[in-house]
Formats: sequence, C-alpha cells, structure tokens
Amino acid sequence: MSKVQILSAEVISKIAAGEVVERPASVVKELFENSLDAGARRIEVHLKDGGKTLIHIKDDGSGIAKDDLGILFGRHATSKIRSAQDLESVLSFGFRGEALYSVGAVSEVTLKSRSKASREAWEILVRGGERGETAPSSMAAAGTDIKIHELFFNTPARKKFLKSDASEFDQVLNVIVPYALFYPEVHIVLTHNGRNILDLAPQKTRAQRAAQTLGLNAAHVMESKDEFPNDNIRLTLILGDMNIQRPRRDLQYIFVNGRPVQSRNISFHVNDTYKLILPPSVYPFFAVMLDIPPQEVDVNIHPSKREVRLRQESKVGVLLRQAVERALMTRTSAKEVSADIPKDDIFPLPSGFPIKEEGVPADKIVFAPGQKGFSPLIDRDTVSRESVRPGNFSGFFEKSEKSGQRVADFIPPVQGDKAHTDPVKERFLRARFVGTFIHKYHLFEEGSSLFVVDQHAAQERIMFEKFLRQIHGGKVEVQHLLMPVQIS
Ligand code: ADP
Ligand code: MG
Repeated sequence: MSKVQILSAEVISKIAAGEVVERPASVVKELFENSLDAGARRIEVHLKDGGKTLIHIKDDGSGIAKDDLGILFGRHATSKIRSAQDLESVLSFGFRGEALYSVGAVSEVTLKSRSKASREAWEILVRGGERGETAPSSMAAAGTDIKIHELFFNTPARKKFLKSDASEFDQVLNVIVPYALFYPEVHIVLTHNGRNILDLAPQKTRAQRAAQTLGLNAAHVMESKDEFPNDNIRLTLILGDMNIQRPRRDLQYIFVNGRPVQSRNISFHVNDTYKLILPPSVYPFFAVMLDIPPQEVDVNIHPSKREVRLRQESKVGVLLRQAVERALMTRTSAKEVSADIPKDDIFPLPSGFPIKEEGVPADKIVFAPGQKGFSPLIDRDTVSRESVRPGNFSGFFEKSEKSGQRVADFIPPVQGDKAHTDPVKERFLRARFVGTFIHKYHLFEEGSSLFVVDQHAAQERIMFEKFLRQIHGGKVEVQHLLMPVQIS
C-alpha cells in the first residue's frame, strides 16, 4: 500500500491557519492591518479575556461589497494584488489573502460590512472553515465590523499554549502601539473586558501621538525628518530627549517602509548614538521610520517574523547615526531636575574642563577612548592641588558658601579673559583632586565646595582648545571622513 497521501482540505486549512494565527495578538495584527489597508480613520478593538473569548474590531474604512463577502474566507482571496508583477509594488500590509481564511478556520467569525458605495450592510458567519450564507444586516455608516469568538475551539493543542489573559493582552497592546505611533491621524480605541485601555484621538504630529500613547511628556519628544536623495532614503525620527530614561529597551520602535519591524542593526546604531546624552545602563525612547527602496531590504515575508536585514547596513548605519546625533545635539532640551529637590541645592555640572597651554592637566590626565565613556588614567601622586589649573570654561555655577545663593559664573572662552580675578577659577586653582565618580565625573574639593567635572565634556573641550590653537597657529590637522558628507 502506498504510504504517501495528499492531506485533506481540513488538515491543510488547519496547518495554514497555524502559520498565520498563533495567538490573539496575531489575529489583531491581521485585522488591524486590514482596517488600515481599508483607509479607516477610526479603529476600535474590544477584547474579552485577553482575546481568547472575543476579539471585536470595528472600522470606518471602505467596507466590503456584498458579492465579495462570500469569497473573502476562501484561501488566497485578496483585493490587493492581481498578478505576480503587483508583488513588487505592494503598498498595503496584506496581499497574501490568508488572514481571514486562517482566522475562519480556527474560530467562529461573524463579519458585517457596508461598503462606501452601498446603503445596505451584509453579514456572514464562518465557523471552523464552514461558511454560512450572506445575510442582510444593518450598519449606520460604511465600514467593517468583525467578531472572532472562541479562538482555537477546534485546535485544542494550540489553545493550551496560550498564556494568561494578561499576558495575551499585553501582546495585543504591543501589536497596536506601533501602529498608533505611525498613524497619528487614526483614532484608535482599545478596551479589555469593558475597561478602556487606549482612546487615542487623532493628533497632528507623530511626536504628539507618541507622547499621548506612551504617557510621555510631549516637551521631551522631538521629531525630525531627513532625506538622502542620492540613496533614495527618507528618515523620520521621533526621539525622546535625555529626560526619558528607561531601564529596558521597551520603548523603541522601528519601521521599515511603513511596517513595524525588528532590526538589531538599527537598534544598535540608535542606542549607541544616544550614549552621547544618556548615562550608562539606561535606554531611550525612539521611533525610527525608515523609507528605503524595497530591493535594499531583506524582509522575511513569513507573517510572524519581523526581523529585517538591510542590504547596505553600514551605509544606512552612518546616515542614521548622523541624523540621530544631529537631532540630539541641536534639538534636545536640558535635563530637568525633579521638582522636589530644593532649587538651591542644584549644582549643575560645568560644561567645560579647565585646560591651559602651560597648564598641567592635559599631560597628567590621559583620556583613553574606547571604554564606556572615557576612562581616565590618573596618576594620583602627580595630580596634586598644584597640578590642576583652570583655564576657560563656561556655564559654570557655584553655590557660594557665604550667601547660600547660586552664583552664575559665565565665562566666555576668549583669550586674555578675566580668569585671574575670577573667584571660581581662583578656587579651582586651589582645588584638590579627590577621585572619579562612576567613571564619568572628576571630583575636586576646595574648602567645603565640591567641583564636579564631566570628563566627556572635558575631553571635548580639550579638543576644542587644541583646534583653536591650531587655527591660531595657521595649521590644522585634517582627517578625512570615511563616508563623504554633502553639505548644502
Ligand atoms: P489580504 O489582507 O492579504 O488581502 P485578508 O484575508 O486579510 O487578506 O483579507 C482579504 C480581503 O478582505 C482583503 O483583500 C480585503 O479586500 C477584504 N477586507 C478584509 N478586512 C477588511 C476591512 N476591515 N475593510 C475592508 N475590506 C477588508
Ligand atoms: Mg490582511
């Protein structure tokens, strides 16, 4: 007897469904994308028991014509492409025509719809792949209303693998949030067991939408757009500033050509660039929206896999780092200090580090780039009070011992300034090096005052002064960039 058999249609449908529909979150993803594809401006998602009992999605999109309702739940039924050629230019999320078919195979679905061109609404019921008749229904306006009851009722093995309601719900939330960020013009509502979780009215900008969705202070979120026409790349960045610090990378979103994806490469470059402004071991909020010619992206088109690879990762990496750095360096607001610290006790860090041509620090304190931040090699014995001398530094504040008032001591970096008559600088001359804090700040004491020097800023200051000297000397060291930059 032959051992090879063709599987029955029922088995085939269950296997296919298993690939698309893994859990409530994957159903929500497919249906939500269908609503977006249909041009909806308002999408409601209502769940019961993490979506295990009911997933109900309502939209005000184009709706579905009566004649289409009957074939929607067939395999490979799609309105989004017609030929293999179309595959190269799909702009919609869907095109495989498998979602409704798969969902219908493993649950009970009722779908109601009224198309824009029609005044009538129609509905259809599908249970475990069995389609009912198309019947008249009623809807006040055009749109689609779809309910998924009893997910996996006929595939108990799948059902067993579902996690707790809370955990399934979390995954649904993780599906919806990226779309919320990408589509600020769409009103999005999410409820769970009758409780309102999200009610996101349309916003003008993605930065505002991000703040609204994630509960961030809008003043700490910025948006920047960059175009690189030579490479046919467009980049939209929604970036949290240094005030948004997360213990995990939980608020980081990446979109390639409008799809939420994961990309270790992009994530690495952005997180790495943020080290310019964030302390170690905290992570920023960001959303990177990259538009790039499709042939440059290697998308694993399996619906549940979202990791993408870029063909020219290093080039995109360079552009991305430039754009993120520019935005962070020019647009961020300063660190806010929590209001419950008395203002007078704030002792901001100086933004420069003392250096003088005939001074000592440059050869006594060696900055060794490469480690976390910069790790100074300080010879304790040679760094005495005499060896640390101030030069020019700006934006330095001091808390005066006598009055208890803060004294702003702004010294512009000009040659032959009043450094010698300046009390802070005078005191810095007498200051004694006492150590480093978290490998980032040099601490100096003088009387009962503590001077804190940000060594990263200090190193930049040293470079700055060095270049100034070179400019005055008429000869500047030149280092060519690895990648040329066009400046208009
Ligand atoms: P795909 O999205 O890949 O085309 P689906 O199985 O998700 O396949 O959907 C099949 C078809 O059903 C879509 O091509 C679309 O025409 C229609 N459709 C599904 N959901 C909606 C909706 N919310 N609004 C309008 N049309 C829809
Ligand atoms: Mg679809």
